[in-house]
Amino acid sequence: MTRPVVVRVPAKINLHLSVGARRSDGFHDLMTVFLAVSLYDQVTATTATGLSLSVRGEGAASLPLDEGNLVWRAAAALAAHAGVPADARLEVVKAIPVAAGLAGGSADAAATLVACDELWGTALGRAELVAVAARLGSDVAFLLGGGLALGTGRGELLTPVLAAGEWHWVLAVADGQLSAAEVYAELDRLRGTKRLQLQPPEKLINALRVRDSRAVAGALANDLQAAALSLRPALRATLREGDHLGAQAGIVSGSGPTCAFLVGTSRAAVALAAALAAAGVCRTVRIVHGPVAGARRVVANPVAPA
Ligand code: ATP
Repeated sequence: MTRPVVVRVPAKINLHLSVGARRSDGFHDLMTVFLAVSLYDQVTATTATGLSLSVRGEGAASLPLDEGNLVWRAAAALAAHAGVPADARLEVVKAIPVAAGLAGGSADAAATLVACDELWGTALGRAELVAVAARLGSDVAFLLGGGLALGTGRGELLTPVLAAGEWHWVLAVADGQLSAAEVYAELDRLRGTKRLQLQPPEKLINALRVRDSRAVAGALANDLQAAALSLRPALRATLREGDHLGAQAGIVSGSGPTCAFLVGTSRAAVALAAALAAAGVCRTVRIVHGPVAGARRVVANPVAPA
């Protein structure tokens, strides 16, 4: 029997998320800067007959174990694309909270593509994997490569962005979930008939390149934030508290409800995380840094599947 393939995949936050018009396919045009951060899910693929799926860890109980799960859809899409049978046992260990604005589902899909490509020996190569990924969801292609990238289209057209060094963040994870579709619908409702131009993230990209953290803090932007706050007004208190406790900047991550706070050092991250937890303005906190690599095979010491 072939050895199990274990793949680790990070979460993402959006440092810039400009949302344009709703397109005829229902998606919105985006201009976004993705950052992959060090909060990881893990997918293990093992030889089997037919497809089966198990999920444990953060938020596992809320997830479907059939084609409703992006992991299942990713394996089926890869098998169809490569013309091989979809034969694998897939085991997911989740640390990325579900429907939290961190793209955990897309991350798992990216990890599954890498794991099954290896398990089945389909050796698709990066460009073909990206093409399959883009059909599965807007963030999946980014999470294959990770790092820091500008995303256009609906987020699937990627250009790498250079950044000097590591950036430290505290994630304040809220109670409950927010559906990305509902947050986009709320944004459309708030905007009414107003048509907005996509805003390019030039200031942010320059600030990242020269490591001007004050300028990065000032350039963080998320069009979905107003909609997320409209649906979850309690997030205002989280953002205010992070600001009060000395974060360089705070922003709703993607469609929320996670809030991401930028800090200068890993020590500052520990202090802010403890203070946010003590203030009781979120369910839990996570200290992360980025950019980190996207979905990658783990060779030593994986988290043991159940
Ligand atoms: P989106 O990716 O839609 O922008 P998000 O980052 O806030 O949203 P995800 O954790 O990716 O949230 O989950 C989005 C939805 O995808 C959830 O409602 C969930 O039921 C569904 N889903 C399917 N498979 C998975 C998976 N493996 N992990 C997480 N969510 C999944």
